[in-house]
Amino acid sequence: MDYKKLAELLFPNNKLTVEEIEKKYPKRNLKQGAQVTRFAPSPTGYMHLGGFFQALIDWNIAKRSNGVFYLRIEDTDKKREVSGASAIVLDVLGSYGLTPDEYEMKGGVTVGEYGPYYQSERAEIYRAYAKKLVSEGKAFPCFCRKTEGLNDVQEKREKNFAAGKIEEKDPCRNLTIEQIEENLKSGKKFAIRLKSAGDGTKKIKFKDGTKGEIEIQQNSADAILLKDDLTPTYNFAHPIDDTLMGTTVVVRGEEWLPSYPLHAEIFEALGFKQPKYIHTPLIYKLNEKGNKNKISKRKHPEADMRFFDKEGYDKEAVIEYLINLINSNFEIWRKQNPTSDIMEFPFDGFKITANTPIFDFVKLNDISKEIVSHYSAEKCYENLLFWAKNYSLENVQYLKNEREYVTKILNIDREKPKPRKDIYKWSMFFDLYDYMFGAPKKFEIEDSERNNFETVLKAYKKYLTLSSKDAWFENVKKMAGELGYATDNSEYKKNPEKYLGNVAKVCEYIRVAITGRKNSPDLFEIMNLLGEKEVLKRISLIV
Ligand code: GLU
Repeated sequence: MDYKKLAELLFPNNKLTVEEIEKKYPKRNLKQGAQVTRFAPSPTGYMHLGGFFQALIDWNIAKRSNGVFYLRIEDTDKKREVSGASAIVLDVLGSYGLTPDEYEMKGGVTVGEYGPYYQSERAEIYRAYAKKLVSEGKAFPCFCRKTEGLNDVQEKREKNFAAGKIEEKDPCRNLTIEQIEENLKSGKKFAIRLKSAGDGTKKIKFKDGTKGEIEIQQNSADAILLKDDLTPTYNFAHPIDDTLMGTTVVVRGEEWLPSYPLHAEIFEALGFKQPKYIHTPLIYKLNEKGNKNKISKRKHPEADMRFFDKEGYDKEAVIEYLINLINSNFEIWRKQNPTSDIMEFPFDGFKITANTPIFDFVKLNDISKEIVSHYSAEKCYENLLFWAKNYSLENVQYLKNEREYVTKILNIDREKPKPRKDIYKWSMFFDLYDYMFGAPKKFEIEDSERNNFETVLKAYKKYLTLSSKDAWFENVKKMAGELGYATDNSEYKKNPEKYLGNVAKVCEYIRVAITGRKNSPDLFEIMNLLGEKEVLKRISLIV
């Protein structure tokens, strides 16, 4: 068969040659060891936690090697197109400090020399390579549009392949040039398939960055490279884009692992060198019964990265938590280096420790509490205001007007060797500190204690002073003694029956009266911030 003639027949208008294309994509001029990674989402309209997990690995590999991290939008499947895909992804990445070095905003700026960064704008490139493969007898047109659409055929084949079934070669590979001409004349649409040279009874070996050496069935499928609208499949676009754009490490979900042999064959057919691969595990969540489920947007709101924003999670905490899921030695490192910049941690994208990372809010919240506890009150205020501006508009004016008061609240128990660890997301602030914004409506007090509670409060009206912490406590002690409470704890422990309780009990009653709760940050600080008038008012509301 005259393959050159065939290529011209199929692609008469595609004059751009691969040589011309490759001139536009010179080898990147980077220092030795520098890695080029990319985040390549399909435009689904939101950023999935799993995608963010991959992007975080990409960013770290690139940044830590002085390489390049770029964003490519894989929008060849027009059915799933969502406009503004770059903006959504860049927004999330940028807010976590992971802005790619290269990207394209549709209708706006393009940063980087290796674009277009939207696959839909690279159609000519894929066709040029398809034409080349046809001209070398490595790909052929397929006119199979019987009862099933081409995409269904492809899906079925790929399922077979994933299940380890050996593919029969596609019958269209045997069409003569006359038959092809005939089909074209009658206006039949065609797809382009790889003429696989693979043998499905054989295995190939390859080294995955996380899973190590893997033995996997060789590709034998005549897989579709261009669909019948001549747009590429992922399988075809991946080797072309990642080669031209200079990717050295491909970080992608492990659902792509079964397609690896096909990709290997396409790389070879195109004469390209393969990048390294890191196939990342999916992220799971335990349900109430303790069973593992894949994180999905339908069941888990946290599958969408906007969730963390809406809730006001600290960004550093989210990053630390995910790094912790990627490299299990992070936790020990953090304990030894509590104040070090996270960039000092010896991150290793090739050592994803957990096979099934489990997303766990308890852990995330603990990490977040720890981080937030080390922020200054001013930084907390700024973060709180930033969150409110986006997600709690009704509180913005108050926060702006009461900057000083709110900052003081945030400073309670903060500037201490062991600062208080309570806030882990900004949306909890107004509930957690509700008593700073109005008298409590509920009181944590048992019925059996009601009398004592009221007696203490009645007496306290005369003993209240906020002139200093010492004077405040002296008065509480004095009153406690007079009401029959022990002022000395060791004495109380020796003879508890002689007393109504100890001074701590008295403090608890005052605390409950002021905050509604048995536990709160430093009581004197709270009362001092509220002021004598407000404190007396709250007590008078009870007794
Ligand atoms: N667009 C593919 C996806 O969203 C990208 C896979 C890859 O990173 O190569 O799964």
